[in-house]
Formats: sequence, C-alpha cells, structure tokens
Amino acid sequence: MMRAIGAEALSQILSTSGGTLQAELPCECGGTLHYQRQRTATITSVFGRISYERAYYAGCQCECGQAPLDRKYGLVPGAMTSGLAALLSLAGIEFGFEESCKWLKAYLLFEVSENTVRSETEGMGALQAQCEKVLCEQSQEEEYLQARLRETGTRPKRLYGSMDAAKVRIEPRPKAGKKPPKEEDWRDLKIGCWYEAEPVPVAQRSRRQRDKQTRGQEVMRTKNMRYFCDILEAEAFGELLWASGCANLADLAAELIFICDGAVWIWRLIEHYFPHAIQIVDWYHAADHLKCLALAAFSTESQRAEWLEPVMEDLWQGSIPEVIHACECLTHGCEEAKKEITYFTHNEHRMQYKKFRLAGYLIGSGTVESACKQIVTQRLKKPGAQWNVEGAVQTAKARAVWLSGDWESLCLRRAALPLAI
Ligand SMILES: [Zn+2]
Repeated sequence: MMRAIGAEALSQILSTSGGTLQAELPCECGGTLHYQRQRTATITSVFGRISYERAYYAGCQCECGQAPLDRKYGLVPGAMTSGLAALLSLAGIEFGFEESCKWLKAYLLFEVSENTVRSETEGMGALQAQCEKVLCEQSQEEEYLQARLRETGTRPKRLYGSMDAAKVRIEPRPKAGKKPPKEEDWRDLKIGCWYEAEPVPVAQRSRRQRDKQTRGQEVMRTKNMRYFCDILEAEAFGELLWASGCANLADLAAELIFICDGAVWIWRLIEHYFPHAIQIVDWYHAADHLKCLALAAFSTESQRAEWLEPVMEDLWQGSIPEVIHACECLTHGCEEAKKEITYFTHNEHRMQYKKFRLAGYLIGSGTVESACKQIVTQRLKKPGAQWNVEGAVQTAKARAVWLSGDWESLCLRRAALPLAI
C-alpha cells in the first residue's frame, strides 16, 4: 500500500509541477519551440513504474522536441530515475548481480533484472573511470597543480600511501554465434589507497590494543581511507597513482609515507612519482620472510623458535645487518637463505623499524590488504561471478568509491549527466 501511495503521489506531483504553460520556448539551437499538447511519459522510480503528464514542445526547425519538466528533474522517459539507479548499483557493488535481484525485490517490492543491475553498477564504475581520466590529464598540467597550491587551506601533515595487487579471474561470458573464449585468465587488479592515522582513544581500545600499549607501541588506527584501482600495467597504473595523489594532496603533504609489501613495481612507481616519500616495508611481510625461512631451514619447532626469537627482535629494532648475519648462518644447504639475504639487503633502508616507531609511523600495511579483501575477495571473487576485464574494473572502481566514502558525490555526478536520449 505504501508503494502504491508513493507511486500515485509521485505521479500526481510530477503531473502538477510543470509550471505555467508557455506558447513558445527558446530552443537550444537558437530557434523557437511551440507548445504542442500534454503528453504522457513513463519512468521507473523507487516506487516502480510511474506515468505522468507534462507539457511537450516541438515545431522548431531543428526537429527536436522538449519537455521542460523532464529537464527540471533530470528524468529520461522510458528510463529509470537516478535515485533508483543509485540503489541498484549499490546492491551491485555489494552482492553478486543475481543475488542483488533478490535483495532488491525484498526492499523495493518489484522485480529488477540481473542485466539491469549489472549495467547500472558498471555504469557507475565507467563514470568513475571517466572522472579519473580527467584527473590524469589535469595532473599533467602545471596550471592545475599550481591552482591547487593557492586553494589548499590545510595540507595533510602526515599522509600514508599503500599499494598492492590481487588476482581476478577473467572468464568472459560466451557471446552468441562466437566461439567460446579461452577458458580463463588471471589478471592483477592493482589497488592503492591514501589514508591518515590517529591514536585510538583509551576508552575504545580493544584488549589486544591495550596489550600493545603496555609493550610501548602507540595504538593507532587509520582514517579517511581513499582507494583507487585498475587492471593496468604498472606504468599506466603510475599515472593513476600520480593523479589520485594530486587529488589527495600527497605531493603537498608535509610527510608522505608509503607502507608496502615490497613488490618491485610498487617501489619503482613510488620512487618515480614521489621520490621524497619515506618508504617502509610492511612489518608483517618482513616478519613473514623470516618465519618462512625458519620453516625451510629447520625441521623441528624448537629449532625454529630458537633461531627466530633473537632475529625477530633484531628486525623489530631495525638492526638489519644482524638479521642478514643470522640468515648467512643458514646458507649451508638452504637456498632460501640466499634469497632472503638479497631481500633484506635490498630493503634495509625500508626496515628501520625502531626509527619508524619512534617517529610514530605506522609500520603495517593492513589497510591496503583489507582493501584487497573488500574489493576483490568479497565482491569480484563471489561464487558464480564471471567477469570480462571491463566489467571487473568498473565494478571494482564503483566499490572503491563506496569504500572511500565518496558514493554520494558519484551519484550526484550521475544525476547531473546530460540526458541520454
Ligand atoms: Zn531547435
């Protein structure tokens, strides 16, 4: 009944809010439109399908007709309202497309097809991709970068960045009449994020965090997470890194700190675009390297523990030469040890954990890994999900906007799009 009331009310409101009838209206082409008659249009809103009547103008030399009411409210006859589109795509970034239909039916009380949810969700991602393209172009222009300098009221004092990648299975749906595509293909979705950190108030600390505090570690949490992602080669992804960095004032931050897992492409991009940034290898990844080495080198748990305990302490203190020395003691008959020596030698300056801790920096990149989980594992890897590259990228981008807390502004941009005819 509520839905019926809503539908009827919306229909009446639209039909009576056309304003005064004009005999003539100026046309965009410079010509003149003449009033024709009241004409019925249908749209799909959150109340379902709705018909309404509005004044229709035509008769210009350019042969375009116009209904001013549709323009006023951003309505496209035959299409859905931007409010409904926002809801469908919100379901689409959270649930599988088929599953979305069931949720939407429960909430909206009418059926929406899987394809509609898919195309609205991907449309949101495509819109975000367009915005990013504009940002990429702007961030190459001296003028834009300079203008930011003048406008910027507060520059971030300490800004963090992280990057990582996660595998997405690409398995295009077979198209009618074409031979089926290759069975499957794995592609890297690269994900980056910008964030800040703040101390956790004492009253909100978990037990684990209280333990941490008693061990002399500052208890911090991240805030203002902003994500970006794409399936691109590293070089092209670098342009997006730079563009989103400029948008988040990373280049103007008093301190810029990157915490990453240590993949070579990541450090290369950081050195190229943000050469002054402080680089930190994620503590947990570095510690894992030692744990894996212990597993490979020793056969019993007690031997492993005996070797690990002091070397983990050395790592914690940032005494990398000591760590390397401990690895050197294992090189007899253990190939992994040699690899780890290279790893720690290459990353020594990024593992000054004592120095980093004293400066109050975060040393773990849990945030970007959780982004990978939230974007890739929780959505792109849902059972039954089938992606082509474009669909996967667009859905991931739309989800990244939601996770960044920017969803509303993306919806506003969609609503403001010039009407598609
Ligand atoms: Zn005209």
